[in-house]
Amino acid sequence: MLPISKLPEPPGLKEYKSKYPGSDDYIDFCSYQQAQAFTELRENLLKEQKFVCAYCGQRLGEDVLKMKTEHFEPQNHDKLTIETKKEYHNLNYNNLLACCRGNDDKKGENHCDSKKGPKPLHFIANPATIQIRNSTIKYKVNPRSEEVLIFSTDPEIEKELNQILNLNHQILREKRFNQWRRVTKNLGHTETWKVPKVKRLKDDYALLVDGIKHQEFKDFIVWHLEDWIRRFG
Ligand SMILES: [Zn+2]
Repeated sequence: MLPISKLPEPPGLKEYKSKYPGSDDYIDFCSYQQAQAFTELRENLLKEQKFVCAYCGQRLGEDVLKMKTEHFEPQNHDKLTIETKKEYHNLNYNNLLACCRGNDDKKGENHCDSKKGPKPLHFIANPATIQIRNSTIKYKVNPRSEEVLIFSTDPEIEKELNQILNLNHQILREKRFNQWRRVTKNLGHTETWKVPKVKRLKDDYALLVDGIKHQEFKDFIVWHLEDWIRRFG
């Protein structure tokens, strides 16, 4: 999970909040100004996340209708709580993240926001509030089964990765592996990898088209190459 550097709150969201200070209603906000503010919000989220899902790192397209707006702290629908301002985060910009659709058309096959739903994450931090990635989150490449697993050495985080976000869904394991194969193709067989070449590849992957769009599964690929360099460099 890559840290997200938030852009300033988009003007439409700001305007809605000053016009309806007691609302905190995301659904109501979505139809404000014929959904112009909603489109602007999603465009902002995509831009600051450089077009990758906040959780799985898959590439997101530029179509704001083909993504999901994730509420890191789950949405609060309790009017009384909102009125007493106990929890006021449905329209808190730092609480909003761009996510992939996470197989939302396949019941029981969901991941990311689609799997998480209204459940909170207690141990995985909001990527918009961290400066560096969580170092307990690691990956295991398994060339034999052609998949890449994500795991954490912290058991609580490990649980949330699997049970709340379902980041080891078969599709994600395979997609990560396919990306790994594509990216490391020119290094040859893993036993013949050369340190300078791996370093160059890592730097290229971390920076390539950065500024506008992240490379897909950047967290995994960069971590994996750095881990290899640590062990064999
Ligand atoms: Zn995702």
